[in-house]
Amino acid sequence: MTLLDLDPGQVAAIYGDRLPKRVRRAYERFRRAPGAFKLDLAVDGGIPWTNEPSRRAVTVHLGGPLAEVARLERDVVAGRMPERPFVLVYQQYLADPSRSVGDVHPVNLYAHVPYGYDGDATEAVLGQLERFAPGVRERIVGMRTTGPAAFAATNPNFAGGDIVTGAKTVPQLLLGPRPALDPYSTGMPGVYVCSAATPPGPGAHGMCGAGAVASALRHLRGK
Ligand SMILES: Cc1cc2nc3c(=O)[nH]c(=O)nc-3n(C[C@H](O)[C@H](O)[C@H](O)COP(=O)(O)OP(=O)(O)OC[C@H]3O[C@@H](n4cnc5c(N)ncnc54)[C@H](O)[C@@H]3O)c2cc1C
Repeated sequence: MTLLDLDPGQVAAIYGDRLPKRVRRAYERFRRAPGAFKLDLAVDGGIPWTNEPSRRAVTVHLGGPLAEVARLERDVVAGRMPERPFVLVYQQYLADPSRSVGDVHPVNLYAHVPYGYDGDATEAVLGQLERFAPGVRERIVGMRTTGPAAFAATNPNFAGGDIVTGAKTVPQLLLGPRPALDPYSTGMPGVYVCSAATPPGPGAHGMCGAGAVASALRHLRGK
């Protein structure tokens, strides 16, 4: 029994012709999501949000009104890097103060960037943050950046900086890497995909693995 915590592209590359032709083709055509460009910051005094509730929120999404966010995301999917991208900000220290050193707090944030983007999005991300927290740059006392290539280097599933293992289009979210009765099956007996490329996707941690294991157990029981 083999469970592969891999994106479909890797499964196709590793198993090649051992996969049924139609499965290999589907895995090779699997659509990837945009990339991520992450900043890990040490911020003296925390982020000076103008919006007071954001000072108490562990997660803040930056992008302005819904129409603006939709436009930014469309641009990124189309391969265009926006001047002010959609940014997710994480202030986990609010829930776990032991992460801070005195009044210096760890904040990480990442922007959606085009798949495989090889530019430096640091200024674009900080510009978006500054829009909602003027003066934040003066408070940054440490910074580390991780772009798409660096994500892919640490985890081959994150090719092109796609940290959610595939575009979450309605068909891919519901059906996984290919339309089939069993979305975890590779078409090779006893070999299953259990990564976030399979239903129900990355937002429901553990459930892709649970689905793949259920398929494997059905196979073992001969059902
Ligand atoms: C910064 C960041 C923030 C995120 N935020 C969120 C969030 O808020 N909510 C959310 O739902 N998801 C989030 N995600 C995404 C989430 O972490 C992933 O969807 C999830 O980890 C995917 O799980 P997985 O089991 O598919 O595989 P992975 O977690 O990718 O695990 C696969 C493992 O296999 C290893 N591997 C892969 N290929 C090979 C190979 N060829 N050889 C050897 N080893 C290999 C990898 O190194 C890794 O250890 C975030 C990811 C990142 C990086």
